Amino acid sequence: MDIDIFFLGTSSGVPTVERNVPSILIRRKGEHIYFDFGEGTQRQIFRLGLGFSKKMKIFISHLHGDHIFGLLPLMQTLTLFKRRYPLEIYGPVKLESFLKYNMELLDIEPTFEIVFKPIYHNTILDFGEYYIKVIRNLHGGLSYSFRIEEKGRPGRFNADKATKDGVPKEYWSILARGEDVKVGDKIYCSKDYVIPPPIRGRSIVYSGDTMAFDGLIELARDADVLISEATFTSELKDRSIETMHMTALEAAKIAREAGVKILVLTHFSARYNDLTNHLIEARKIFPATFIAKDLDVLTIPYVTP
Ligand SMILES: [Zn+2]
Ligand SMILES: [Zn+2]
Repeated sequence: MDIDIFFLGTSSGVPTVERNVPSILIRRKGEHIYFDFGEGTQRQIFRLGLGFSKKMKIFISHLHGDHIFGLLPLMQTLTLFKRRYPLEIYGPVKLESFLKYNMELLDIEPTFEIVFKPIYHNTILDFGEYYIKVIRNLHGGLSYSFRIEEKGRPGRFNADKATKDGVPKEYWSILARGEDVKVGDKIYCSKDYVIPPPIRGRSIVYSGDTMAFDGLIELARDADVLISEATFTSELKDRSIETMHMTALEAAKIAREAGVKILVLTHFSARYNDLTNHLIEARKIFPATFIAKDLDVLTIPYVTP
């Protein structure tokens, strides 16, 4: 199955006519995983014809308004829709009281369970088929970057042998991911049904808001896609330091050092109508750079070797 990355908002502090405030949706196997949820994100979701998935997680990088002001309207909508499935929200510890306090004030009584989990520096959250690593950024308050990575497979699955040996089909995917299977008193060993070399899972890194720092290079090491903020170009380097953001050039240097495949720039200051200079300065350092536009979709295909 493919992984689709939807760019729902690519501006920074304020929306513009062309760009909404930050939100990214990663869709994998029907699960919707959001990173940040700025004001107006719901409309972006509807414009793309995407509904709300039964399986939905929201990760909030930090508590600046441009990244969280879409959450309360979302709670209201999901309540009006009479959602029954739990909603998982991960973010800086204070996010929980922000939601509780405001929902009480607004008399929003959700029809669904909100499962809030605080995030911390240098933690790895295990979601079964993939994990999400969290590290702390250099930005105002508690702010985080994320790496979502699928667990790898030990090799290509040998369907011919599995058929020949009469392994029931429902166990194939378990063997393919490296686990042995017991059926009655017969044991099938994964190593007999996979052909090396091991296959790495796909990985996507999202920087949130931050200044450039070495930890981000490590987080992004060999990733398929690095989605990085690039609020400014180098001409406004001083401003980027004052506001603890990055320039396009700095994002490109991180992409090069980390050896990522693709760099996608986002979170642009609303002062820029034209992002050609962002692209030019980044591509000098890292040619595989792209500028995200609102409602762009980037697909990472599932490769069967
Ligand atoms: Zn921001
Ligand atoms: Zn911020």
